[in-house]
Order: sequence, then C-alpha cells, then structure tokens
Amino acid sequence: MNIDIHSLESNLKSHFGFDSFRGTQKDVILNLLSGNDTFVIMPTGAGKSLCYQLPATILEGTALVISPLIALMKNQVDQLNAHGINASFLNSSLTKTTTNEIKKELIAGKIKLLYVAPESLNKEENLELFKKIKISFVAVDEVHCISEWGHDFRPEYRRIKSILAEISQVPIIALTATATLKVQQDIQKNLQMDNATIFKSSFRRDNLFYEVLPKINPKNKLVEFIKQRPKECGIIYCLSRKKVEEIAEFLEVNGIKALPYHAGMENKQRVAHQDAFLNEEAKIIVATIAFGMGIDKPDVRYVIHYDTPKSLEGYYQETGRAGRDGKKSHCIMFYSYSDVLKLEKFFKDKPANERDTHKLLLDEVVSFAETSLCRTKQLLHYFGEHMDDDCGFCDNCKNPKEKYDATELVLSALKICESVKQNFGIKHMVDVILGNSTQAIRTYEHQELDVFGIGKDQNKQIWTSIYRQALLNEFLEKSIEHYGVLMLTEKGKDFIKNQTSLTFFKDNEYPNTIEESVEAFDHHTEDVVNKELLGILKGLRKKVADQKSLPPYVIFQDASLEEMATTFPNTLEDLVHIQGVGLGKANKFGKPFIEIIDKFITENNIEAIHETFIKTAVKKSKNKVFIISQIDKQVPFLDISTALNISYKDLLEEIEHICHSGTKLDINYEVEQEIDEDSEEDIFTYFMEVETDNMEDAINELGEDYTEEEIKLIHIKFISELAN
Ligand code: ADP
Ligand code: MG
Repeated sequence: MNIDIHSLESNLKSHFGFDSFRGTQKDVILNLLSGNDTFVIMPTGAGKSLCYQLPATILEGTALVISPLIALMKNQVDQLNAHGINASFLNSSLTKTTTNEIKKELIAGKIKLLYVAPESLNKEENLELFKKIKISFVAVDEVHCISEWGHDFRPEYRRIKSILAEISQVPIIALTATATLKVQQDIQKNLQMDNATIFKSSFRRDNLFYEVLPKINPKNKLVEFIKQRPKECGIIYCLSRKKVEEIAEFLEVNGIKALPYHAGMENKQRVAHQDAFLNEEAKIIVATIAFGMGIDKPDVRYVIHYDTPKSLEGYYQETGRAGRDGKKSHCIMFYSYSDVLKLEKFFKDKPANERDTHKLLLDEVVSFAETSLCRTKQLLHYFGEHMDDDCGFCDNCKNPKEKYDATELVLSALKICESVKQNFGIKHMVDVILGNSTQAIRTYEHQELDVFGIGKDQNKQIWTSIYRQALLNEFLEKSIEHYGVLMLTEKGKDFIKNQTSLTFFKDNEYPNTIEESVEAFDHHTEDVVNKELLGILKGLRKKVADQKSLPPYVIFQDASLEEMATTFPNTLEDLVHIQGVGLGKANKFGKPFIEIIDKFITENNIEAIHETFIKTAVKKSKNKVFIISQIDKQVPFLDISTALNISYKDLLEEIEHICHSGTKLDINYEVEQEIDEDSEEDIFTYFMEVETDNMEDAINELGEDYTEEEIKLIHIKFISELAN
C-alpha cells in the first residue's frame, strides 16, 4: 500500500491527539502497513499500543488484538472509543446480547479493532465469525506469555498460531516489554515469524536507582523508607496474597495508608483499590504481581520488592513502573537466601522441566542480587544489551566493593569451560573446579578430567562469582539454544592463550536472614523508650487514677505508656494508634497525656532524635467484629467460643484485648449467669485495690475461692466499665 508519511502524522494528531511519534513507533507502523510481520520489543510505557492502534484505523478491515488481560481490554477500548475509533472486545465477561451486537457490527465491517482473550480464540463460533470478516492484521500484545522462558507463561498463547492459520494469512505484529534472546527466539519460532522485522528499543532507564538490601528487619526498613517520603506514590510487591494482606495491615497500623491488591480479592474491591491508587486517594498499593500490567501512572516514585522476586524479567518489568515521567525513582529489592529457598520449595511440586526453568530463572535473580557490579549494566546484559560504562547511579556504583586480582582464577574457570566442551552451566563447572563428585559429574565422567578439582583452595561463592563476572565481561556468553549453558567468546579464547591482568570485585554478602525476627522489634522498643518521659507519664497516670479513685492500670497499661514514651504521640489521633488505647480511652483519658508529651517534646527538642517506631499488627483480634456483635445480642460466651472453635478461656482473652483497647462491652448477662453477686463483688473489690492488673497475682490471691475463668470474667467487666 502507498503510504504518505504526512497523512500518518495527521492521523496521529487527529485520532490520538499526539504531535509526534516516539522512538521507533513510526518505523514500526510503516513496516506493518507494508504488510510485514513485525516484532516490537519496547520498555513498558514506551507506547506499544499505538503501534497497532494507528495502523488499524488506516487499513481496511478489522485488526484482531490478542491481549491476556480482560480488565485492560475494557480500558483500552474505552480510550479508543473516546477518540472516536470504533473498537470492541470479545471475552467471557460479556452478556449474550452484547456479544451478538458486536458480532453484527463486525460482519457489517464497522469495527476497526477487536480485542480478544486467547481463550476466546479457541471457541468454534468465534472462529467461524473470524473466517467471515476481513481481518487487516493480528496484534499479539504481551507476547512473552507465549514462552515458558518468560515470566508469565500462558499455555493458551501457544495455540494462537494454529488458530490464526485457519483464519487467514495476514501480517502479525507481536509486542512485549520483556524478552531475553531466548524468549525472542521462542516467540518467533512459535508464531512462525522468523522473517519478522525486529524493532528493539533500549531498555535502559537512566532515572531508576537500583538498590538491593539484605532482608533483615524489612518491616522497619519499609516504614522508615515510606515515612521519609510521605507525599510520594509507591508500589510494594509481595509474592503471596497472604503477605500482601499482612504488609498492608502492618502499614495501616503504623499510620500509613496502603491498599492491598491481589487476585484473591473480590473483583469490585480490587478495581476500587486500583482506581484509588491511580487517582491518588491512596499513595501506596501493596500487591502481588497480578497488579500493574498496563498500568500507566507517571509518578510512581518507588517500587519495592518486599520478597525476593522469581525472575529478572518480572523484576525488571515491575520496577519499570517507577518513574515513567522520567524523574528519579527508587527500586528496592529485599534479598534473602531463605526467600530463594522458599521459592525453590514452592517449585518442587511442579513438573520437572517447569521446575528446572524456574530454578534457572531464579539463579539469575541470585546472581543479580549478590553481584557487586553495576546493577543497570547487569540487568541490561541480561536482556542482551551491552553498556560500556557503569551507570554511576545504583547502590553498587555508589559503594564500590573491594577489588582483587582475578587473572589466575579466571584462567582456571575458562579452562574448565573448555574441558567440559562448552556444554554446561555455572553450577556444574563449579562442581568440576571444586572436585565435587556429584551424580552429574559421574555421569559425564568429569572426575577423569585433569582440571578436576584444580580450584579446591577457593570456595563455591568465589567460583560462582568468577563465572558471573566472566560472563558480564564477555569472556563467556550464554547459549541461546540451551538455557544456562555457557560458552567461550573470542575474547575468552584469546584470554586463555594470552592473559592480561584482570581485577574483579568481591561479591556482596547477604546473611541467611530469618526475616522479620520478632525480637528485633522488642529490642528496638527497649532501646528507644525515653525513660524520663516514661517516669513523667507514670506520675501523671497515678495522679489521674487517684483523682478518679481507680487503679492506675485502668487508665493506661504499662505497655501503652512505654509506647508513648517511644513514639511521642502529641495529638489524640496519634494516641489512638498506641497499643491498648483505642478511641474510647483516648477520649476519656487522653487529653492530659498528649499535653504533657507535647510539653516534653518542646522542652527537650525531641523532633531531632525522634526515630521511626514500628508497630506490629499482632495484637488485633481477628474475631473482633464477630465477638462484639454476638455480645451485643447477649449470646452466651460458650456458644460464641463454640462458633469460633476456640476454648472458653481463649475467648475471654480475646474479649479482654478488645476491652483493653477501648471498646465498651456490656457482659452483665454472662456474669449474672456464671457468678453470684457476692463473689462478683469480692473479685471486683480486689481489682479496685491493686496497683497492677497482673493476672498471675490475681489468681494467686483469689485462686482458692474462684476459678481462673471467673476471675477473668470479672476483670473484663471491671475494665470495660471503668476504663472505657
Ligand atoms: P506500553 O504498552 O508500551 O507499556 P502504552 O501503549 O500503554 O505503553 O503507552 C504509554 C503511554 O504513552 C500512554 O499514555 C500513551 O497514550 C502514551 N503515548 C504513546 N505514544 C505517544 C506519543 N507518540 N506521544 C505522546 N504520548 C504517547
Ligand atoms: Mg501495553
């Protein structure tokens, strides 16, 4: 077809409202319009959609767009319709009537773009329909889903080609933001588009600051990081739904508004959370990787991988959601080898070949995390792009590690590669060099090689690091045919003949951390309690207690005062966040306390030494709402505990927590049932007279005459009536 470039530009303006093409968009479009198969690899946010949307408006017929995400289809179709372009989608979310209407319009040739989910392609009725209409071309978006070497493999994608073959011979445009050479090859093979013109843009993102942190006390680090930038938007990725819930709740408890997002949530709520994030009602979203594909928010200032990610493809795409506006943005990964082991364990149940794939992809993550080389360079290298200089911007560039002379070590490592006939991966070669007798070594009889065990004087970490750096320095390269296999480059072969002196960096060291150790929190608390303020607060509590003729602990418990002496809440709002306080207590007793804290802050210039304090979200009763509603209905405690499948005693403990944090409960119906009036008065008087509410003391004192349950029951009544 005859293409006039000026008309392309005017089409861009009139249909999409843009003044000029970005990057390779124009070349891509021209190539597709000329009827060629086209393969587009562009980073997220670069503008891939336009590469098929614009040609669709020019060419005769309907462009078929295959896209994996139903939620995004609607979004794109809405946008196109808003531009006055007739686009629709077919997927399982539509009613029969709507589907029929769309089909009618298709046959009438009115629709320029039709989005379909890969599973809809399989439907016989759709196939028949597609045979009847004129199709201009087929676009396969997020095409990496075709490859099991990608990070988001979808088996339905594998069938695209055979189905398309039945429809008609039209050009294909395949698009993705992530593809290693291996994945590219897989895609081309599978879609039979070996002759496609490939448009690959640089993946380099100069504004992203990459940092890998050891996963020690990640929660503390998270809160500190976020509190330093309260106005900024960020995404926190976790690997499981459970973790998403936990972290979102944890942030909430620490006064940070964060919304959860994962595939297990109800659809309506998930969409609501996504919208709230997009329009800034919530600055932070905590999500599984289900969140983000196609999200186009320009000012995400940070992306945090709370859990060590499964693959660098996924990681790079997820971090790519930061800083789309080109401004500096932060990408943090929490790395721990115990996360890696957890993932491996998780893959154990998968079929063998899938498991091996996962393992190899995970090894790349480990290598990336542990390297002390430029992060950006390492990432780009992974995606087949070479960078001459270091970025000068990532954590490793900012804090260079110690160097050592690696000439001899590299020589040995390369010799091993030669000896095993360039047919093996790092792990195997390290076993050879260390002289380990593994099953694989015996199978290939590599213990017979004269280089077997030549590197016994160094450890596994050193050799692994040597291989990785040799790879990055292009003495070795990855085989595309056989994943994980390393081969010598010309440079590597030259080096074996003729060494030049070589220095390498030592690797980063990450301890095998047990994440989120609870003690760490406790120590943290101990360390920062301001003893002087604590004394003042205790004095005040005593004064208030005396005035009201109540025991001090009824006002606030010791733990609450300690927390106040740590976090210095000087508004009622802040006070509510203190453990065991709650709205009821804050209103009833809070005022003099926040006043005295405020005075203390001013007099001692506290702001300067104020440290972020992290609260755990453990004390909250899961069953709180249920219990309160049951007590309101005066359901006997025994029935409540049966319904919750917990013991009577555990129920009492939960109720105690609820009362301690400020909720008033009327439990007289239960007390009347269980205890006679005299006993009640006896226990009540005891609690009135003691200074602390230590349960052990109470049981020692009253235990002869009353059961533990009775004592607890009255204690609850007491707290609820007097403290709340
Ligand atoms: P990708 O699919 O590559 O991640 P999108 O196609 O979603 O990216 O485009 C990202 C953003 O860039 C969208 O908001 C889009 O409207 C915008 N965009 C695309 N092309 C241009 C252009 N030529 N000029 C200005 N904005 C553009
Ligand atoms: Mg896209």
